[in-house]
Amino acid sequence: MKEKVKILYIDDEKQNLTSFKSNFKTEYNVFTANNAADGFKLLMEHEFPVIIADQRMPLVSGVEFLEQSMIDHPDSIRLLITGYSDINTVVEAINRGQISKYIQKPWDIEKLSMAIDHCITLYNSKSELKQKNIELQVANEELNKFIYSISHDIRSPLTSILGIINLTQIMPGLNEAKPYFDMINERVTHLDSFVKKLIDYYKNNRSEEINELIDIEKLIKGTMSFLNIEEKNIDFKLNIMQTSSFYGDPYRLGIVFENLISNSVKYQDPEKTKPTIEIDLNISPQKLELKISDNGIGIEEKHLNSIFKLFYRTEDSLKKTGSGIGLYIVKEAIKHMGGQITVLSEINLGTVFTVILPNKLINEK
Ligand code: ADP
Repeated sequence: MKEKVKILYIDDEKQNLTSFKSNFKTEYNVFTANNAADGFKLLMEHEFPVIIADQRMPLVSGVEFLEQSMIDHPDSIRLLITGYSDINTVVEAINRGQISKYIQKPWDIEKLSMAIDHCITLYNSKSELKQKNIELQVANEELNKFIYSISHDIRSPLTSILGIINLTQIMPGLNEAKPYFDMINERVTHLDSFVKKLIDYYKNNRSEEINELIDIEKLIKGTMSFLNIEEKNIDFKLNIMQTSSFYGDPYRLGIVFENLISNSVKYQDPEKTKPTIEIDLNISPQKLELKISDNGIGIEEKHLNSIFKLFYRTEDSLKKTGSGIGLYIVKEAIKHMGGQITVLSEINLGTVFTVILPNKLINEK
């Protein structure tokens, strides 16, 4: 048999309590109290989907009682019974979220019954929503763990394959097979970089923001050496203007540097005789401003609003290896750090990404 819904009714007039109980006891599990102290005692022992209180009571008013009940019973739905003269109190209580409904005195059974029905429906939908949110959170966490473990389990064999392919470069007698090994190398490197981006995506979503002193020059030079910039035939300029130390999230800033710089290398125009990349970094006590400009293939205006979307790639980029995930992670990482990113580009001329990040030095020190 379905359990009856528990309702608490508190009123200092005993005949109201008796009449309430006799009218509703068949349908609900009714608990009554004729003063606030007894009401609080019942609240300590039971969970009530609906709490009803009369406004005019000595010592503690109905609104005060309902407000107190919110502390330990935030999910209950609260109903106030009150006279016309208290209308201002009612409006204020509704606006402050202390009550969901009110009934005028003297209450009539039908109206009160409808109001209680309404409160129970509200309580049930609130509980359902809460349950769904918990389930969604669990599913989300499981998905994140799943992605993380897959990414790691895939990445380590990929690294081994790349190591073995590297060995073949120095082995005698494999000259004929070299083009095939180079192809394998290229594809595996691409797969490895995709998996690494998945890990970045996961970590960016999961980890709390770190706030520490960052050696910007070291971080950017580390990224450039990781991307083998020096070995590429590109005229590369790095200008750093720093008037203050910079505090921020080194992991997320690393994601931004790595993706924007690797894109400026990847989307170079093979037709151009002098491929150029220029990085300007301006660090003040308030902010870090990063500008990465290239004279590569550029991006058509119609794509500019979409390139930050997950898996979005332009037609021009399809000839290059890519996954359309990098700029999405960059945008998310910048959002986490409280900054912003903009892009200006002209097809065949080049692209400029500008990033502005707050220097957390101001807030933290
Ligand atoms: P991808 O893995 O395809 O490079 P991104 O999310 O990093 O994915 O970039 C999305 C798209 O934005 C790319 O496919 C490319 O079309 C365009 N794009 C990004 N950076 C540049 C750039 N510096 N020059 C030209 N096009 C770019």
